[in-house]
Amino acid sequence: MLNSCGPCGVRNLPHAEACASCGLPLEPRMPREEWEALSPQLRADHEKASGESVLGRRRWLENLRARRGIHTASGALLFGVLMTLMYIAWWRGHAAWLAALCALQFIAGGAAGHLINTKGGGSLKGFVIFESTFLVSFALVVLCGWADFPTDGRLAHFTVRAFWLGSLAATMLGLGFGRYLAFDRYDPSQ
Ligand SMILES: [Zn+2]
Repeated sequence: MLNSCGPCGVRNLPHAEACASCGLPLEPRMPREEWEALSPQLRADHEKASGESVLGRRRWLENLRARRGIHTASGALLFGVLMTLMYIAWWRGHAAWLAALCALQFIAGGAAGHLINTKGGGSLKGFVIFESTFLVSFALVVLCGWADFPTDGRLAHFTVRAFWLGSLAATMLGLGFGRYLAFDRYDPSQ
């Protein structure tokens, strides 16, 4: 019966007209008179659950801020290692390009980890952030390959395999990372 706030996810009291956490207006799920007619026990249960949700969000925000560095480093390491392994396995160009491109994967992964932290987690956001990070870094890899590979079809072969596998890896990583940081995992009232 609690009234969930769409943007922040906090569960408010059923008659609330504004979110207790982010302050945005809410459509009440029942009029105040109806709320006051509920049994004291039922109201107390709702108040407890809603209070825990507000507190949970505060702790979650503090946790995200405190661990921004860890999440940036985790993004760099996870994305960087996955992509580096893939490119090392399939790259057929010069080693200097490969080293530069692998370093880029760690930087891009760190930026994605930082961004998903500041955006507050969630599987969908994680997917969008990590998948776009992959697409941008992959486009650069292909451009460098274009300049570096001989034109005998090996670049096309590399591009197709790396695109599908990298895309899959970025999707799984983004979904998992986003889910791990999402608020509902921290909401004790759920
Ligand atoms: Zn809210």
